[in-house]
Amino acid sequence: MTDAIYPDLDGKLVVVTGGGRGIGLATVLRFIGQGARVVVLDLAGNADIDAEFIEVDVTDAGAVASAADTLTARLGAPDVVLNAAGIVRSASAEVMSAEDWTRVIDVNLSGTFHVCQAFGRHMLAAGRGAIVNIASMSGTVSNFPQKQVSYNASKAGVMHLTKTLAGEWADRGVRVNSVSPGYIATDLTAALLEREPELGEVWRERTPTGRLGTPDEVASIILFLASEASSLMTGSDVIADGGYTVW
Ligand code: NDP
Repeated sequence: MTDAIYPDLDGKLVVVTGGGRGIGLATVLRFIGQGARVVVLDLAGNADIDAEFIEVDVTDAGAVASAADTLTARLGAPDVVLNAAGIVRSASAEVMSAEDWTRVIDVNLSGTFHVCQAFGRHMLAAGRGAIVNIASMSGTVSNFPQKQVSYNASKAGVMHLTKTLAGEWADRGVRVNSVSPGYIATDLTAALLEREPELGEVWRERTPTGRLGTPDEVASIILFLASEASSLMTGSDVIADGGYTVW
C-alpha cells in the first residue's frame, strides 16, 4: 500500500486507542507515514512503533479524562481521534455470562464514548477535529451462526453513538464517522479461528470477495475519514466488508 495521499495530515496530532495491535497498529503506521504525531492509548505498549504510549484502559472514564486533559495541556487538542480498542466474547445468548456481556459493552461501547467525550471536549474547545470509531458489520447483521450477542449489540451502539455525536458537534467543527469492517486478519479473528477452525470456510463462502481483509485496507478508509478529503462527511458509517452484507 502506498502512502502520502493526505497532505493535510502532516504534522497533525492523532490519538489512537488500541493502537498496539491489529487494525489500530496498521493505522498508526499509516498516520506516521503521513507525517502525523501519534499517541497510542492501550493496555500494553508496542516498542516497535515510533509513537508515544499512554497506558489506559478505555473502560476507566477517569483515567481516559485524565489522559485527555494531560495530553491536551502538553500538546494541544488532538486533530484526530481513532477508537480502535475492542474485544469479542463468544457464547450463545442463553448462556453468555453477565461478565462477558458487561465487559464487551464496557470496552467497545462505553470505552468509545469515554474517549469521544474526554477528547471531544478539547476538540470542541479548539473548534476542529475528526473522530473515527471502529464499529463492525456485526452492528448491522447478526452474523449467525457465530454467537456474539454482546459484540453485535456493542457495535450497533457504536454506530448510533457516532451519529448522535456527529449531530451534536457538526456545527462546532468536529466530525464523527465510523468504519464497519468485515472479517479482517488480526489476532482477534485468529483467536476465533483457533477455537472454531471451521469458521474460516464459512467466512470465505459468505464474503463475495472470498477472502479476509487486511488491517491496512481498513486503515486506508480511516485515513480518508480523518483527513479533509472527507470534509463533508459526518455521522457516516463506511462499510468495508468485501461485500459480506450485500446478502
Ligand atoms: P486486536 O485484538 O488485534 O487489537 C485490539 C486492541 O485493542 C489491542 O491493542 C488491545 O490491547 C486493545 N484493547 C483491548 N481492550 C482494551 C481496553 N480496555 N483499553 C484499551 N485498549 C484495549 O483487534 P482488531 O485490530 O481486530 O480490532 C480493532 C477494532 O476493530 C475492534 O474494535 C474490533 O471490534 C473492530 N473490528 C475488527 C474486525 C476484525 O475482523 N478483526 C472486524 C470488525 C471490527 P492489548 O494488546 O493490550 O490487549
